[in-house]
Amino acid sequence: MSERPEMFEGVDTIWQDGEFVDFEDAQVHVLAHALHYGTGVFEGVRCYDTDDGPAIFRWQEHLDRLYESAKVYDIEIPFEPEELTEATVELIRREELDSCYIRPIAFYGYGPLGLNPSESPVETAIGVWPWGAYLGEEALKEGIDTAISSWRKHSSSQIPTSAKTTGTYVNSVLASLEAKGNDYGEAIVLNKEGNVAEGPGENIFLVRDGEIYTTGLAESILDGITRRSVITIAEDLGYEVHDDATISRGELYTADELFFTGTAAEVTPIRSVDDNEIGAGTKGPVTDELQTRFFDILESPPEQYDDWFTYV
Ligand code: PMP
Repeated sequence: MSERPEMFEGVDTIWQDGEFVDFEDAQVHVLAHALHYGTGVFEGVRCYDTDDGPAIFRWQEHLDRLYESAKVYDIEIPFEPEELTEATVELIRREELDSCYIRPIAFYGYGPLGLNPSESPVETAIGVWPWGAYLGEEALKEGIDTAISSWRKHSSSQIPTSAKTTGTYVNSVLASLEAKGNDYGEAIVLNKEGNVAEGPGENIFLVRDGEIYTTGLAESILDGITRRSVITIAEDLGYEVHDDATISRGELYTADELFFTGTAAEVTPIRSVDDNEIGAGTKGPVTDELQTRFFDILESPPEQYDDWFTYV
């Protein structure tokens, strides 16, 4: 096996199909269905080091989305949600992590190879590892430079975008490769109609005249859980939030503020799009307020948002 990537250094255990196995032993057959056809569903979740101890952020919502994604592909996860919860909590405890990223995955595994997956067993695994700011600390503070991808997002009439499926991420990979290849921090992907969809792994928000807009679920986006959280936080702070917006490319350029949300990206300001400065070209005041509130909630969960946290 090749050398371990730095991000997995120190990880001892993976949960695989009901067992805790050594990291090196968590293997999959090369003829697994999902490897060939992208027939897996997964989640990306974060556990935060709160004042009340390590807590998984919006675990229930992530679990619900995992089972909903699975349903679309007839993937019958052979574990109850409670079993995945127990396994995850136990993994975090075993790894002695205060904060981490959590990656549950369920996929059609090793069986007869062909498009029909019905004879392939569903394999399930969970990994946890320490993880910092996905787009970098600097991006959280100053904002990130983005470019519109020349790759369009597939429409939800072609591949359901509400499901978090392994195969569909080739679109995100293409957009990311292009953005990084051109020295931008992240891509913004338009949908088939040419309106704004989302980032490769983020939802997008726009601020204009003190009101907040985010692309609607019909715009071929993933129903992001950070997106939902930020909508609630913004409304609780008294903002008007339009969560079913259609946003054109041009509107991005003239926005007062733009930011990404996502489990990995958290709340990341966007300071430019296609080399056009957004607002003052740094984190804007509304983004700053929402980001600050978001991180404050994660540090000391207020009672009001108590059901967002699953304590380890
Ligand atoms: N869109 C895409 C395509 C994503 O991969 C993600 C990350 N899961 C998001 C949006 C943000 O979703 P969440 O806030 O649930 O992480």
